[in-house]
Amino acid sequence: MLPLVALVGRPNVGKSTLFNALTRTRDALVHDQPGVTRDRHYGVCRLIEGREFVLVDTGGIAGEDEGLAGLTAQQARAGAEEADLVLFVVDGREGPSGLDQDILGWLRRTAKPVLLVINKIDGVDEDAALADFARFGLPVVLPVSAAHRQGLDDLLDEVLARLPEDGDAAVLEHDPERIAIAFVGRPNVGKSTLVNRLLGEERMIASDVPGTTRDSIAVDLERDGRKYRLIDTAGIRRKSRVEEAIEKFSVIKTLQSIAVCEVAVVMLDASEGVTDQDATVLGHVLESGRALVVAVNKWDGLSTYQREQVQALLSRKLAFVEWAEVVFISAKHGSGLKELFRAIHRAHASATREFTTSEVTKALEIAYDSFPPPAVRGHAAKMRYAHPGGSNPPVFIVHGTRLRSLPDSYRRYLENFFRKRFKLVGTPIRFEFREGS
Ligand code: GDP
Ligand code: GDP
Repeated sequence: MLPLVALVGRPNVGKSTLFNALTRTRDALVHDQPGVTRDRHYGVCRLIEGREFVLVDTGGIAGEDEGLAGLTAQQARAGAEEADLVLFVVDGREGPSGLDQDILGWLRRTAKPVLLVINKIDGVDEDAALADFARFGLPVVLPVSAAHRQGLDDLLDEVLARLPEDGDAAVLEHDPERIAIAFVGRPNVGKSTLVNRLLGEERMIASDVPGTTRDSIAVDLERDGRKYRLIDTAGIRRKSRVEEAIEKFSVIKTLQSIAVCEVAVVMLDASEGVTDQDATVLGHVLESGRALVVAVNKWDGLSTYQREQVQALLSRKLAFVEWAEVVFISAKHGSGLKELFRAIHRAHASATREFTTSEVTKALEIAYDSFPPPAVRGHAAKMRYAHPGGSNPPVFIVHGTRLRSLPDSYRRYLENFFRKRFKLVGTPIRFEFREGS
């Protein structure tokens, strides 16, 4: 699965600033949508396809005001201990402190690969700062300014040079015959029950796809003559001891599973609606650009009245992903699974559909003619043509002038128009706007 990189350091050295600088998504619209919760402590750093890693801000998890007690709190330690690489962040303005020394000693004992990141290098003498920390004896030292985004390219180069080359090849290797599915959701929504039921139905054909990293495992499955690969899911893999102790850390697995799947099935518990934790999982899926199906589990045992209540609540709470299909299932009784798999296929087909330049340009023309962009300070954006820019999720590249002035509402209009015209369900779609021809 994706490698794990942990930010470690005493409070106030700039870990969360660095975390934001490294994980900030270009797709800002996602987070403007109500209902999406940004996880402030875990994020995927996506540089180039295939070279992604999960970044965890251990300070953020441990709580910032507890000092070393906080740092050595179980979660922070577990974060660093599970990491492939530790970024030890220190403050270049203040120089080395006793707390830094304590952390250094602890990192030495864990014997993890460590990069020393000297932050806040803006406005201080870099050579002096480097000299100050030389006695830490760490071979790789990177002066950066997280706040001013300086030195981050060098930092990322050093990180990538130290990460496992191709992660979990068995899982990452795309098998065009199989749809890679991740069942994700907070603890107790019924993921294991569902996966075990699916595997139980087809036990004879299910086979392990051994991973090369840690405990990551995928299972291949055939169902009604179609082939699937179930990505590292709770029900397949035995939980590690650390995970058992710290349920929260399954967030890392969730991020990793989402990153390598093609269709993410977010499971909810019908009796609990959409909790904050559910919204965070949905936010991760949105950020990843993966196709999405929402499976509302434990549909058994609800009265007709309760079901109506739940449906009304969900259509409100899930308005921000209204393009996703919602299916109602019972993992326990195996009901709704046909509908679930139909929705998975529709989402996958939409996400991977191929477009021609002429059909995309045609769609743009019709959208434009039926509702031209509003004028901003006397000038309106002009859209000239469009072409496909990628799939899974579908990307449309629009060329024109004054495109920066397009209001968000117009971008949403275009998105809805394209969705309807091309009958795209279950996948996000993205637009890129380019000035000129
Ligand atoms: P954390 O406690 O380690 O997560 O630290 P924060 O990211 O919350 O940052 C602590 C303080 O340092 C904040 O006031 C930041 O604005 C400031 N800070 C973070 N990075 C930089 C930097 O590169 N340069 C300067 N001058 N200040 C920074
Ligand atoms: P996970 O943590 O998401 O893997 O959840 P589990 O599969 O361990 O399920 C948590 C609990 O919910 C268990 O007690 C299951 O028996 C129960 N459960 C799972 N699916 C269903 C369902 O469809 N209906 C009902 N009533 N209970 C379910």
